[in-house]
Amino acid sequence: MGEAYRIIMHETGTTDVLKVEDFTPRAPGPGEALVKQAASGVNFIDTYFRTGLYPVKLPFVQGSEGAGTVEAVGEGVTNVKPGDRVAYLGAGTYATHSTGPAGTMVKLPDGISEEEGAAVLLKGLTAWMLLFEIRPVTDHDTVLIWAPVGGVGSVLTPWAASLGARVIAVTSTPEKAAKAKSLGASDVIVGYDDVAKQVRELTGGKGVDVALDSVGKRSFEASLSSLKKRGWMISYGNASGAADPMPPGRLAAGGSLILTRPTLFNFMDTPESLARGARHLFAAMKSGTFGADIGHRYALKDAAAAHTALESGKTSGAIVLTP
Ligand code: NDP
Repeated sequence: MGEAYRIIMHETGTTDVLKVEDFTPRAPGPGEALVKQAASGVNFIDTYFRTGLYPVKLPFVQGSEGAGTVEAVGEGVTNVKPGDRVAYLGAGTYATHSTGPAGTMVKLPDGISEEEGAAVLLKGLTAWMLLFEIRPVTDHDTVLIWAPVGGVGSVLTPWAASLGARVIAVTSTPEKAAKAKSLGASDVIVGYDDVAKQVRELTGGKGVDVALDSVGKRSFEASLSSLKKRGWMISYGNASGAADPMPPGRLAAGGSLILTRPTLFNFMDTPESLARGARHLFAAMKSGTFGADIGHRYALKDAAAAHTALESGKTSGAIVLTP
């Protein structure tokens, strides 16, 4: 392994397809910056790229977020300069160095480390999108949150609670349930059985205003059945596999429900929207609403082990890779 290396895949499949490869970092072109990375965040979407659930062009360098120090910038870049500490969303971030559009980079404020930036940017912006940009959550709402202490969940749960919403969380173990409570969940359902029935009991039969569902196949119907009349079903992930197809009439039968399947990249499609989301995210961190919850650290070369851990469903908080 040389000074610069990355995790690349030439075929889709199990974690065996993730290979360590030396490379020469690309000099930044116009509008780009070259970053020496301190850490890369691991996200569930990386496992979908690996397995082929979300098709990618091969060979493919893994990674969707990272952070580090800018080493060089290309022509026309004004938002960052060499020496700046930055975090970003992007492709190919499982690497010691990353060259990408400077417009997708945000400067890290003092008090937020590069490792924390890599752990929290994508997941925190997702939580921001879910709570503020789709159906804004308020202190009048009861929300259902699945996987409340995972990468996204460990930001989403305390942020929703800080808005004054009542959070009903669903998780797999008593240990994770205790953590969900400490993050601000009012009630926690342990196990995936009879969730809708338990939600009805907890809400006096009414159901919840918004379901924030990252689990997909195993949870989708339970989320729909937990909603109030005209409630919002926000299906944002597939941790247990993609949800089954559903006829529109199911939404009518549930009480004129509203269904959306958002993707962060549609909300972060301009430098301005990224800057706005990051401003909110970092402000919430600085005010102590939540911190970067780094549950697991792996060496970059051990990315395969990080995927195995995330897919096991046993992790909590974010996973980061460090060179
Ligand atoms: P998590 O850290 O939340 O890990 C997934 C969690 O899902 C597990 O810890 C577990 O939580 C739960 N789970 C339930 N069933 C399974 C299963 N069969 N296998 C694995 N986990 C299971 O992951 P992330 O925070 O990285 O991502 C969560 C989801 O959100 C992913 O599907 C991801 O793709 C999606 N996402 C979507 C975005 C978007 O733009 N739409 C952006 C970011 C993430 P528990 O034990 O508590 O039940």
